[in-house]
Amino acid sequence: MTVRERIEIAAAALRKNNMDVYCVDTKEQVAAQVAALLHEGDTVAVGGSQSLDETGVIDLLRSGDYRFLDRYVPGLTREQLREIYVESFSADAYLCSSNAVTLRGELYNVDGNANRVAAMCFGPRSVILVVGCNKLVADLDEAAQRVKTAAAPLNTKRLHCATYCEEKGVCMAADGEFCTDGCASPARICCTYVTMGYQREAHRIKVILVGEPLGF
Ligand code: SF4
Repeated sequence: MTVRERIEIAAAALRKNNMDVYCVDTKEQVAAQVAALLHEGDTVAVGGSQSLDETGVIDLLRSGDYRFLDRYVPGLTREQLREIYVESFSADAYLCSSNAVTLRGELYNVDGNANRVAAMCFGPRSVILVVGCNKLVADLDEAAQRVKTAAAPLNTKRLHCATYCEEKGVCMAADGEFCTDGCASPARICCTYVTMGYQREAHRIKVILVGEPLGF
């Protein structure tokens, strides 16, 4: 199956689940698509995401056209960061990626402290996801495997977390029976597991599917 065919199958399934989908071919097209989904003056917030960096979305949010609750301002204390996370729940738009998107139209995400998955589920009026084609998987089993063998190890490497996967490049429970199997490190980034399927609130979740790999 070609990348285009996989994107089309995922897009149809996500739409069936009451999510909006926008398909673009290249990462250079993402920022313009995001801008088209925002309004000047919107309060916007983000979940940790390499994909937003790679596509210039963070730069867009810092352009001055929006009120950006910027979690990346140097020198923020733990408490200030927590305040940004809490205020993010009432943002007009929340932007992040998804650890995996299944061809059945599900979003699968695993968080360490859950601020991102919490905002995806409830709070912000609009949730905009930027998803590279590398994150498309057949089903939830493959999604869980993707987190254990790619997303989590690469993220622990990026964030310098002292975990088994940061050192070995794969989860210590990659062959575990359950998706929540894993390490007992205080730095573990896999703690809260969320699958989103059919949405009662139509159009709240907007998925931008990109025909190129992005992030982890
Ligand atoms: S459970 Fe631990 S070892 Fe496994 S992927 Fe998550 S952080 Fe890495």
